[in-house]
Amino acid sequence: MSAIIIDGKAFAAGLRERLTGAVAAFGASVGTAPGLAVVLVGEDPASQVYVRSKAKQTVEIGMRSIEHKLPASVSQRDLEDLVRRLNADDAVDGILVQLPLPPGLDATPVIALIDPFKDVDGLTDASAGRLASGRAGLVPCTPLGAMMLINSVLPDIAGAEAVVVGRSNLVGKPIAQLLLQQNATVTIAHSRTRDLAAVCRRADILVAAVGRPEMLGADHVKDGAVVIDVGINRIPAPDLGEGKTRLVGDVAFDAVVGKARAITPVPGGVGPMTIACLLRNTLTAARLRRGLADTA
Ligand code: NDP
Repeated sequence: MSAIIIDGKAFAAGLRERLTGAVAAFGASVGTAPGLAVVLVGEDPASQVYVRSKAKQTVEIGMRSIEHKLPASVSQRDLEDLVRRLNADDAVDGILVQLPLPPGLDATPVIALIDPFKDVDGLTDASAGRLASGRAGLVPCTPLGAMMLINSVLPDIAGAEAVVVGRSNLVGKPIAQLLLQQNATVTIAHSRTRDLAAVCRRADILVAAVGRPEMLGADHVKDGAVVIDVGINRIPAPDLGEGKTRLVGDVAFDAVVGKARAITPVPGGVGPMTIACLLRNTLTAARLRRGLADTA
C-alpha cells in the first residue's frame, strides 16, 4: 500500500491564502484589520525565532502585529499588568504570551488573566472548558491544525476509532476533544496505558503526541490507519556529520509508511500548521468579539 503523505506545509500555505482573503473582507466591513499582540519575555533563542516568524506571517496575511518585548528581569506584577492592558485595548484581538517564561516567572497566573475572547493560544481554563463542553471558543493551535490535516483525508470521522497517545493540556487532551466533537470513538493513551501497541492497533486514526523519538512503530499501526505525528524531537545525526542533529517525530515513519493509509511527516506535517492556526484563531477572535459569524 502506498500511503498519502499529508503535506502540512502546503496545507498551511493554502490556509494562509484563504485567510488573506478573509482578513481583507473583515477589514473592509469593520474598518480595521485584526491585531495580534505577542508578548516575549527574555532572550530565549528558540522563542525569538518563533515570535519573529509569527509576526512576519501575521503581517503577510494583512493583520496587525503588536510586539511587546520585555527583559527577563521583568517582575511578575509588571508582566500581569501588561496582559491586563492588552485585555482592555480595543485594538488588540488576540493575545499570545510566548512560553516558556524565564525562570522566576510563573506562567499559570499570567495565562489565567488573558481575556478568553482574546485567548488565541486556547490555553485558559475558560477555553478548555468551552472545548470540553462543545461550545464555540478558541482552540489550541496545534490540535486545531492536526484536526484540519485529519479532515483533509477523512472529512467524516463519525464512528471511527481514534487513539490519541499523550494527554497534555496543550496537545493530547484538546485533540481528543476535537475528535469527540466530530463523533469519533476516542481513546486517550498515556504512560500508564497497558499494552500500548494493542490499544494503538485499534485505531483508524492514530495521533502521536508523546515527545519520544520514533516510539510508535509498525506494531502500533493497523493496516489502513491515518497516522498524525505531532511529536517534534531533535536527535543526534552522526551520518550528517559530527555534532549534527535531525528532527524526527514520535512515529517511526519508514516503518509505518507502508502500513498507513495516510501519514504526516516530521518535519513538514503538523508543525507548519501551528502558526497558520494561530492566525486563523486571531481572525476568529476578532469576529467573535464583534458578534460576527466565523466562516473561514
Ligand atoms: P508532554 O510531555 O506534556 O506530554 C507527553 C504525553 O506523552 C504525556 O501525556 C505522557 O503521559 C505521554 N507519554 C510519555 N511517555 C509515554 C509512553 N512511554 N507511553 C505512552 N505515553 C507516554 O508533551 P506535549 O503534549 O507538550 O508534546 C508532545 C509532543 O508534541 C512533543 O514532541 C512536542 O515537541 C510536540 N509538539 C509539537 C507542536 C507543534 O507541532 N507545533 C506543538 C506542541 C508540542 P503521562 O501523562 O502519563 O505522563
